[in-house]
Amino acid sequence: MTGRPGVLDRLARSRFRSSFHLDAADAAYAREHGRDTIARHARDLLAGRVGPAEPRNDGRQTPYHGHPVFTAQHATATCCRGCIAKWHGIPRGCALSPAELDRLTGLVMAWLDQDLARDLAARRERVARRDARAAQDAPQGVRMDGQTARQDEQAARR
Ligand SMILES: [Zn+2]
Repeated sequence: MTGRPGVLDRLARSRFRSSFHLDAADAAYAREHGRDTIARHARDLLAGRVGPAEPRNDGRQTPYHGHPVFTAQHATATCCRGCIAKWHGIPRGCALSPAELDRLTGLVMAWLDQDLARDLAARRERVARRDARAAQDAPQGVRMDGQTARQDEQAARR
């Protein structure tokens, strides 16, 4: 169940599709529930919302936030049957087959893996920057609370 090679690359070259990223709440939700559960949700959400021959509210059925799979659907063009037809070559007007649902689920999960890795790297970067600042503020590396160290310095100058 991995995305078709090449599709993620094509999506990454689309300015619109590549503008989507998990927000903090949806990333946390994905981590809390684990990959197997999210994959099950993905299969169920795709089957329910874009699986039927004529999905309800087609074109407007996928929110942008509220579940990590929703964001992933916009990023992977699996949000509605129009996008699925255009990007994945599956014609509208007939129900998605189990194999097609598997393929699109695999793609959603591949994107989620990628974006969760990006989210983790960004968070590590932020922590590293904070540590570097704290180390700079601490004279001789003794004081690690930069704020207090600065205040002591100011007090000493008075
Ligand atoms: Zn769409």
